[in-house]
Parts: sequence; structure tokens; C-alpha cells
Amino acid sequence: MGINPIVNNTDMNEAHRSIIVKILHQKGVCSRAEIAKITGLTQASITKIVSSLIDMGIVYESGIIKGNGNRRAIGLSLNTENNPVIGIKFSRHIYDVGVFDIGGRFYTQTETEFDITEDPRKVLDGIKAQVHAYLKEYKNTVAIGMAVPGPYLKDEGIIAIVSRMAAWHEINFLKEFENEFRIPFFIEQDANAGALAEWWFGGHEKPMDMLAYMLMGEGVGSGIIEEDRILGGKQGAASEIGHISIDVNGPRCQCGNYGCLELYSAAPVLLARAMQAEPRLFNKKGLKRIDEYNIIFREARKGNEKFRKLLREIAEYIAYGCVTLINAYNPDIIVIGDVLAKADELILPVIREKVRERVVEELYSQVKIVISKLTVDPTLYGAAAAATDRVLSNPSRFLNITQPSGN
Ligand SMILES: [Zn+2]
Repeated sequence: MGINPIVNNTDMNEAHRSIIVKILHQKGVCSRAEIAKITGLTQASITKIVSSLIDMGIVYESGIIKGNGNRRAIGLSLNTENNPVIGIKFSRHIYDVGVFDIGGRFYTQTETEFDITEDPRKVLDGIKAQVHAYLKEYKNTVAIGMAVPGPYLKDEGIIAIVSRMAAWHEINFLKEFENEFRIPFFIEQDANAGALAEWWFGGHEKPMDMLAYMLMGEGVGSGIIEEDRILGGKQGAASEIGHISIDVNGPRCQCGNYGCLELYSAAPVLLARAMQAEPRLFNKKGLKRIDEYNIIFREARKGNEKFRKLLREIAEYIAYGCVTLINAYNPDIIVIGDVLAKADELILPVIREKVRERVVEELYSQVKIVISKLTVDPTLYGAAAAATDRVLSNPSRFLNITQPSGN
């Protein structure tokens, strides 16, 4: 990937280490024989590479397991706890900073709301201060990942359009952060990050070829993972489902297109319409944005017909997005996440019904459409997962090494 100069891996040992580390990351516990079987490498070379990983403190022997043909074998596991990663989610009104480890365990998180008209410097300094505070507490942190709204141009470090964020247009996120901390810093587009989190930690049935994640939050986007990898395109901005026209004669979008899906289905659109429909429910002072969204979902569940109708309409738009994803990518599964995932059963049946009406039956019958079950925001989780992904590609370079390796 373009922003990471290290992935161009010419060191065969390191490439093999990476493969083994990724297998352990996926499977949790594995024997040497199982790894040999999966990778096609010889037992002898597996033994050698595993010893170097054990020497580095990246892998440890975690006890006896049942190996091939029920033979007892020594289980190998990844030393996840010694290797925390920090994730940052930057969206249009909120930033979250969270601590995870490379095994995907969640430790802690803070959320801060900000006003888009604030001085960007103040917001950026706030993010940095929070990260520094966590780095002090989690001293072994190996990497930081940040998820930003798309389209994000990975080589330039610039968010191409961030609605109503004129002052932000000049901010180069990569330059801003990569020299601030002494550990590697990576940026990923928010929907791609969410897709990675769902792929690894979403609890979806494996094996699968392709997962599509649909981010339905402050913006609308999608991320596609095919066989462990983000489908990024030339500039990292592929699968921008939010900017697909659902009405070519619709209003102009900031991207230049007309009638973009985002204009009809992003969470703020729902909120604006809900406020218009029932202003009295929102006129309490000091309501946070997230509280306002929750009012909609709570009232809809209590039977508010105006809100239920609004949510059905939004669900239809989400369905149109799903139809495009199915026709463009033919994924195994579409996972819907972020703010609107909280509407869960209020929207899912409508989405499925509308998709069914508009997609060839042979395709519809093979795709699952679900709501994210992650308890931590997939984008925040994914920011950490994106950093983890880079780290696992070069384990000896990034992970906390307890003893110097022999090779
Ligand atoms: Zn657009």
C-alpha cells in the first residue's frame, strides 16, 4: 500500500514470518504441523522460522493441543497482550481514540465531540494529547492507525472532500501525525478500516471470499475486503458507494456528482428530517449528537410512526447501495455499520426486501446482509486493525521484541 514504504518486502524470512504470524492471528492456536500444511512450507523450515519468532517474543508455545490425526502437538500462539495498538476515528463531528492489541482485544476508548467551525489546530492538538496520554499508559504500543472519511488520497495524505470543512481542506493528515509519535502511524479510509475490522473480528462465518462493509454514519461509504486485502484501487479511493448517483437529476453533491446516495441516506440527513418532523423531542439543551440519534431509534421502537416511516425510507436507500455493491462486487456478505446500525431490526427487513426485489435471485440467494455485531465502533476498531495489518506484514520490524533474534 502506497503510504507504507515497508510492505515492499524482499526479505523472504520476513515474508514467511509474516505468513505464520497472520495464520496465528486468524486461528488463535495452531501446531507447527498445521502451519506446514496450510503454507506448503516444509516442517523443517517452519520449525526454523517459528524458533526465530519465539526468540523474538512474538510467538509462544501455549500448551498441548490435538494436532493432525489426533496426535498431540504443541500449540503456538501470538503474543498479543504485549503488543497494543492505538486506533483513531476521525469523523465530521467526533473523534474517538481507542486502545486494542494486535489480537483484537479492546482495552479502552475516549470520545470527543467537536464543532466543525473550530480551529482545526485545536482539534488536532486534542487528538494528539489523547494519543500521548494512552502512549504513556500503554508503553509497549507498536503502532497507531487512523481512520478518516473518504475519499482519502493515500499517497498525498489528503481527504479529498470533507463536507463543510473548508478550514480542513489544507490539512495533510499524514504529515500532521506521522512525525508526532515515535512509532509507526498509518491512515486508512474509514469504510476500509471498518471492513477490515469486520473481516477479522466481526464473527462472520469463514471461509469467505469477499466482505463488503457499508458505513452508514456521518457519511456513507463502503470498504471491500477480498482474501484479507483491502480493495483500494489506484489512489485508495475505490468503492465510494456514497457518491454513486441514485438520482442523476438530484441535487448537486460536493463531489461534483448529482443525487449521490450519501445525500439521501447519511445519518445527519435522517437527523435533520427527524428534527423537522418532531422538533419538540430535540429541544433539550446540551444534547450530544449521539443522544439525538438515539432519540430517533428509541422513539421509533416505542412506536413513533413518523420516525418509523423515516427509517423505512432510509432503509430503502441503504438497499439501493447494497444492490450496487452486489452487482459490482458479488460479495459473500454485506455488513452495515456505524450510526444507522443502531436502527438494526427497524431497517434490516426493509433492506433485505428491497434488495430481493432488485437483484437477480441467483445472486440474492448467495449474499448475506447483516448489521454489524461489533460492540466497539467498527471504524475505530478498524483503525487499529489497519495498523495491525501493517505490523503483521513486518513482524520483526514492528513488534516488541523481547530478545534480539539470531538471524
Ligand atoms: Zn457525491
